[in-house]
Amino acid sequence: MAEVSGLIFDLQAHSVHDGPGCRTLVFLSGCPLRCEWCSNPEGWEVRPRVMFSSMKCKQREWNCTRCVEACPRGAIKVADDPEAEQQIVIDRSLCEECTTYECVAACRVEGLRLCGRLWTADEFMRIMNRDRQYWGPGGGVTFTGGEPLVQKDFILELLRRCRRDYIHAAIETTGHAEPEFFMEALSLVEFAFVDIKLMDPERHRRWTGVTNELILANITALAGDSWSGRLVIRTPIIPGVNDDDENIVATAEFMRDVGLEEINILPFHRLGDSKWTQLGLVYPFKDQESPSRETMERIQGLFKDKGLVCYVGYETPF
Ligand code: SF4
Ligand code: SF4
Repeated sequence: MAEVSGLIFDLQAHSVHDGPGCRTLVFLSGCPLRCEWCSNPEGWEVRPRVMFSSMKCKQREWNCTRCVEACPRGAIKVADDPEAEQQIVIDRSLCEECTTYECVAACRVEGLRLCGRLWTADEFMRIMNRDRQYWGPGGGVTFTGGEPLVQKDFILELLRRCRRDYIHAAIETTGHAEPEFFMEALSLVEFAFVDIKLMDPERHRRWTGVTNELILANITALAGDSWSGRLVIRTPIIPGVNDDDENIVATAEFMRDVGLEEINILPFHRLGDSKWTQLGLVYPFKDQESPSRETMERIQGLFKDKGLVCYVGYETPF
């Protein structure tokens, strides 16, 4: 039988903000949402993504055209305007079916690089069993993304193997997954951050591309289940999108109604901006400032008024 494999677009060691202790963060490709403020757009699709860095590209200094010549589909050309921000232009509609990535192999300076590659479960577990030496007691692995529940067979296999090897598993999920599968996967983790981005279904669809009924139903089911793990709701605070009193109070009341007590609010940041550019996309939030401390304190106060425990930024105790 073929070994289970899946696409991972990043691994980060030594994380201390995404679950108990010291952890390895595993970024799985694929996401059903398209949040306009997303800081990991390279994880949206279950395929490797070609990223272009104008900082590293030597087209102008060296008159390099290696990628232009290497692409068998004619998808790359040198920009007509020598002053253009990006030295080369990629017609990404021609890249969708590409699996050979000759352009990346041709580039000697990482002007083009491939983000994401296929891992087998065996290979993954070898790395985890190496990393566990520095986790210390209480640490482990946190699966994030993208949305870690998109590659169903792969995540189930990794979670089962973590359990078999006594590795503490945590997950950061949008909660947008088929209910039965959601509960099956969550039964294999000890800690979960599940996002609530907006309470109004239509506003949720406007900003993320999907409505939130499935997400709220999954959270309700998990909160009412005999699951022994710890669930903390996470809400990124995006100015002008979800920072209004009406949305915050609705979130707090929903949590209270389903018996949840803890929420972690994260201030919007612009760290994903350059990734959108490297994918040939325009970041809609490129001029958006982070919410002020006063805004975060106001929102924290609204949650506290409803009897909830609200952690701001990286304050969540584990
Ligand atoms: S990903 Fe493939 S089609 Fe796209 S530019 Fe590179 S080689 Fe050409
Ligand atoms: S091969 Fe690399 S350095 Fe050369 S033009 Fe293409 S991206 Fe730039």
